[in-house]
Amino acid sequence: MKRQIFRAILTVALAVLLSGVALIMGVLCGYFQDRMTAELAKSTAYIAHGLETQGRAYLTGGLPRDSRVTWVAADGTVLFDSREDPAGMENHAGREEIRDALLLGHGAAVRHSDTLSQKTVYYALRLEDGSVLRLAETQYSLWLLLLQAMQPVALVVLLAACLALWLAGRVSRRLVEPINAIDLDEPDSAAYEELAPLVGRLRSQNLRIRRQVADLRRQREEFAAITENMSEGLLVIDRETQVLSYNTAALRLLGVEGPVEAGESVLALDREAGFRRCVEEALAGRRREELLGDLCRRVLASPVEQDGAVAGAVLLVLDVTEREQREALRREFTANVSHELKTPLTAILGTAEILENGLVKPGDIPHFAGNIRREAQRLIGLVNDIIKLSRLDEGGPTAQWETVDLYRTAEDVLEQLRPAAERKQVTVTLEGGAAPVRGVPQIVEEIVYNLCDNAVAYNRIGGSVAVTVSAGTEGGRIAVSDTGTGIPREARERVFERFYRVDKSHSGGGTGLGLSIVKHGAAYLGARVELDSEPGRGSTFTVTFPPVGP
Ligand code: ADP
Repeated sequence: MKRQIFRAILTVALAVLLSGVALIMGVLCGYFQDRMTAELAKSTAYIAHGLETQGRAYLTGGLPRDSRVTWVAADGTVLFDSREDPAGMENHAGREEIRDALLLGHGAAVRHSDTLSQKTVYYALRLEDGSVLRLAETQYSLWLLLLQAMQPVALVVLLAACLALWLAGRVSRRLVEPINAIDLDEPDSAAYEELAPLVGRLRSQNLRIRRQVADLRRQREEFAAITENMSEGLLVIDRETQVLSYNTAALRLLGVEGPVEAGESVLALDREAGFRRCVEEALAGRRREELLGDLCRRVLASPVEQDGAVAGAVLLVLDVTEREQREALRREFTANVSHELKTPLTAILGTAEILENGLVKPGDIPHFAGNIRREAQRLIGLVNDIIKLSRLDEGGPTAQWETVDLYRTAEDVLEQLRPAAERKQVTVTLEGGAAPVRGVPQIVEEIVYNLCDNAVAYNRIGGSVAVTVSAGTEGGRIAVSDTGTGIPREARERVFERFYRVDKSHSGGGTGLGLSIVKHGAAYLGARVELDSEPGRGSTFTVTFPPVGP
């Protein structure tokens, strides 16, 4: 803009300057010509007076040297000429100035030479005798004058042009300066009145842009917040497989360290054939799902279409480790349950077949029937434990939470276990006092029962079980100590697994689910289970419940 203004100002200045010079020259020329004609008229009148008073002799006297004097008779015959021989000169009656003088008394004319470099100004005056006296003076033409004055004129024009240049630069700068000074971010006032609508428009557009930018930023932050909190990996790619967007989970699941470089292909992030197939299929416009080689990650690829053409794809990487583990656990559990059920059922079937075939003496029948009852009882216990566990797996029983006194619960449980303890000559003691905890009574009782039951079952003959109940600031706590076999270090974690038994021979007679119920029940109630054991000397299981609220 500055350059345009500069050029416009310079053009105008130069045009004005040159036309001014031309005009002045023209005017000066006209003025000088008029002055010359007037001078010529004066000289003509002066010479005419001399001619009339002194006769022809006057003309041969001292005439002005730079003027040509011609005396023409009334018929146009040249009588005298100061430059040429009149005899050789043609008739002058037809000359414009002579004709005018003969007719009107005086006449003037200007004639240019062939080269245009000179012009001759003529002035003719009719004398009293009817003859005409003409004076001619040669003058350089305007072009010649200009040419002669070229140097100073060029100098003046050059100076004026320099001035115009400087002024144009200054003016254009000053004109543009306030426009440049407009703060495009905060255009509060217009530098020129004419710019006010533009500034107003700028302001409203700025406002709109700022709002849109804030909107976009918010949307991006929301998107980032959502994707960053996703446990699934998310990748958005373009048609050329270049990664456009991704979340941290995607990097973690694909095992990529550090950020993805701009323009990096998604195929460089995972070289697995399944992954490549997903990407290729999605970019071909088809949805594809693949379980990657390690069976821990599932990739779902969907094409993204724009105007009917595939513009890219969205890849979702899922961590299916847990699902796979759960599947494996379920398979293992099913196998274990089948095995556990099969053993008592086979025993029952075998005993029943012996009885059916009459192979048992009548006196032995009670013994065999007792076997069937025990195995059936074991089956019922197993099924009951499975039901309890599956209830806990499904989120616990629907029963209401209540305040339960751990001491009372322990008292009840030990009462139930008294026959078993007596059978093993195990001394059972209960210490402490009331310890209220919040929970589902049935689950609290199952926890206490399983711990005390194990303490008796895995005790030695004549051993002892000490149950201590306390209510500390941490919450209600029950500790069950026994003087039994103890649990080896490597089995301490595993005893809480379903169907895990330290002694695989089933000597304890349990279902292998008791401690699983304890672990899941405690987790359901928010309680903590700790195990301390010394093989050969005994074990202590401690369950700490969360404090009861006010
Ligand atoms: P079970 O029904 O067989 O008792 P649990 O889940 O209650 O099943 O216990 C798992 C295993 O942990 C038991 O088979 C036993 O080997 C071991 N165990 C549990 N409690 C004790 C204990 N107090 N002393 C020694 N071993 C124990």
